[in-house]
Amino acid sequence: MPEPDRGARPGESGAADEPACACVSDPFVSLPPELRPRTKRPAGGLRKTVCPACGLDYWTNRATDRCIACEAAGR
Ligand SMILES: [Zn+2]
Repeated sequence: MPEPDRGARPGESGAADEPACACVSDPFVSLPPELRPRTKRPAGGLRKTVCPACGLDYWTNRATDRCIACEAAGR
């Protein structure tokens, strides 16, 4: 009897062409945060920001984006 082996089988129809989802592009997504390799980040919780008052590009660990000089000047 003829075997119906023509046509794509379920699950094999061009699945490789699908855009990679986050679970593929991030190989560490299934790891707990403490086991993931961290992107290099300065210690002390510093973040890079730009002062909205004077445009200074600087690092801070404070909640505000204003630099110390502008904060002191009340800008
Ligand atoms: Zn400033």
